[in-house]
Amino acid sequence: MPLESKNRVTCPGCALACDDIAVDVQFNKIQKVHNACLRGNEKFMFSGSKERFVTPFIRDAKDKAPKEIKMDQAMLLAAKIMQDSQNVLILGGTKLESNAQEKLVELARIVGATMSFAGAEVLNHVKDAMKDAGASFTTIGEIANNADLLLFWGANPIDFAPKLVVKTVFSRGRYRQTGKEVKKFAVLDGNPTPTMERADIKLLMHPGNDTRYLGLLCMELQATGVLDEKDLERIGFTKEELISLGPDIPPNIKELARTIELTEYGVIFVGERLLNPAAIEREPDLLGKMFRFGSILNRDRRMSVLPLSYHLNFAGLVHALTTSNHEVNVKDFKSIADSLEDFDAVICAGFDLVGKLDDKQLAQLKESKIVVFDYKENCTTTVADLFLPVVMIGIETGGEVYRIDGSLVSLSKCVEPREGLSTDAKLLQELGDYIQNGGQSSFNSPGTSIN
Ligand code: SF4
Repeated sequence: MPLESKNRVTCPGCALACDDIAVDVQFNKIQKVHNACLRGNEKFMFSGSKERFVTPFIRDAKDKAPKEIKMDQAMLLAAKIMQDSQNVLILGGTKLESNAQEKLVELARIVGATMSFAGAEVLNHVKDAMKDAGASFTTIGEIANNADLLLFWGANPIDFAPKLVVKTVFSRGRYRQTGKEVKKFAVLDGNPTPTMERADIKLLMHPGNDTRYLGLLCMELQATGVLDEKDLERIGFTKEELISLGPDIPPNIKELARTIELTEYGVIFVGERLLNPAAIEREPDLLGKMFRFGSILNRDRRMSVLPLSYHLNFAGLVHALTTSNHEVNVKDFKSIADSLEDFDAVICAGFDLVGKLDDKQLAQLKESKIVVFDYKENCTTTVADLFLPVVMIGIETGGEVYRIDGSLVSLSKCVEPREGLSTDAKLLQELGDYIQNGGQSSFNSPGTSIN
């Protein structure tokens, strides 16, 4: 069989969804990946790996060993677990393609489940802050073509979306032909990260007080005439608050203010340092201030604020939840991690629950049935009562996902899935139909029971 090269493939490795990847396929297996980062490369190559989990299993009640079963049996058992449970918890779903996310939300509605994923609370906070500030949107393509200031605030994309910096800072855009030479790259963070290492302007911030640094930047921008007193009030700083920051402005804040003054098209990427529940609790109006800051600067130049969420299709799940015709109970994972004993069935859709729990939290699960849909081993598969393998999205099946900038992009199918494997969307649809129709389905098959 000749080697086939597939171009313009979209990488499902993270929310950047790079669409400039090429893969070489032979014998229905990816042989080589071109232009992906290490993380993307590993994901593509994993599809043909022997480490893939491709066989459904149940855990034996006596010796706790996994016991292989047929897919039909696994589906029946998954349905039975959900039907027999009083309180079902569905975890994850942020890495599924959009159609599968809709089916997951529908399944949650059918079984009356609570849905939970990490970042749900943060997302609500971001949405409120953006709405309130009238934030300006932009896309990665626009940023690459136009931006001359790229400011990463508490964001380390080199570790989480490795090609983001290459695409936006080190690329030549349509209107930035000379590339990096005309772009300023600034990083403000609490630790010296790999992203900061490469920046022109770097500032190590003390922990937990980003509002102070934003205030100092605003003061310097007022001194240079970019902002006035009213702007500072609109951003959310009182006079007393600014006076309390003191007159000393660090030199790199001054340099950043000078750069903002001269910029034509700036982007502030807000990262994980700010987008976490602890940071929001500590500085509840910081994101609001950040969006209002961007919005006011946007008056005399183009300035956008882009919150960075690195999960492949985080925005897709939010879209599926907000456009669903039915109300589904959604909770942030952090808020339920200490009350898992309330749920007698826990369904993990591409979510490594056990890997996120401490021993005390894990002990709450001893009476719960754990069902996992995934394509690989993780801490949760080692204790799961039932495992259902799925195909890898963006490699063995296509679909659509929302990229980090909110654009809808199509994923590619590079190889045929292994025999017997189904997509998440198909399995979730069949489970929902089966439960809704009182046990009528194509996967009806007698046999194994779960204790
Ligand atoms: S940055 Fe993300 S989407 Fe791009 S190649 Fe790397 S893993 Fe894939």
